Amino acid sequence: MRPTMILDDIEIIMLEDGSGPFFSPREEVFPATPEQWADADAFDPGARTEDGEWLLRFRCFALRRPNGRVVLVDAGIGPADAPSASWAPVPGRLPEELADAGIERDDVETVVLTHVHTDHIGWAVTGGTPYFRNARYLLQSADLPTFAFTGPLTATGQLDLLDGDARLAPGIEILATPGHTPGHQSVLVHDRLLVTGDLLVHALQLLHPTIEYAHEVDPALARTSRLAALGALGGDGILATPHLTEPFLRMPATSAL
Ligand SMILES: [Zn+2]
Repeated sequence: MRPTMILDDIEIIMLEDGSGPFFSPREEVFPATPEQWADADAFDPGARTEDGEWLLRFRCFALRRPNGRVVLVDAGIGPADAPSASWAPVPGRLPEELADAGIERDDVETVVLTHVHTDHIGWAVTGGTPYFRNARYLLQSADLPTFAFTGPLTATGQLDLLDGDARLAPGIEILATPGHTPGHQSVLVHDRLLVTGDLLVHALQLLHPTIEYAHEVDPALARTSRLAALGALGGDGILATPHLTEPFLRMPATSAL
């Protein structure tokens, strides 16, 4: 069964583009204590390989609205020749995942790119053209200068730049959560479920939200965004994460938030 949640009139559907180990030792990218690693490994044992590597999932989430149209949050690692190919386990299988979930790519009316790292934009543009032909692509303008894939989206008039929070549709809001990248954004569904993007990338940052990650552009700002967003979501909140083992998580009571 495909992991899916239903919140009122919106269906949140997990789509896994791929999974694989990270390209550098995990101790090099998180400054965590042995106790914090033990917490994280107990909470998310699937995120550690037998060899002690960080094992990531690479996911997108589809939000199916009552009218059948779909908001896709993130665009995965992409096909074999995608920009992520130097480090991520391409080719991704998002096309098969969409088909399996009963989603036609032309039914995707909006693609929210949480940020422009290569493991989140893989299927945005393929072969020099937008993969989702009928979609508006939403990106924070602060992330625009950091990546060059947007040319084809600009050419077809499919790119919408945002500056801060925005209401996307009834029950679907975009929250600016900068720090991981200058224009990182997350998506809040009915005030109860947060599609996090890389607001947190490992259980370490859920249990100990002050822990930095080496690939955060502005770690202090990322920490501020993480604490604010998780705090606002509260104990009843649900997280939909791209990289942790479980696609949907309750806010853990043990979080040092
Ligand atoms: Zn990522």
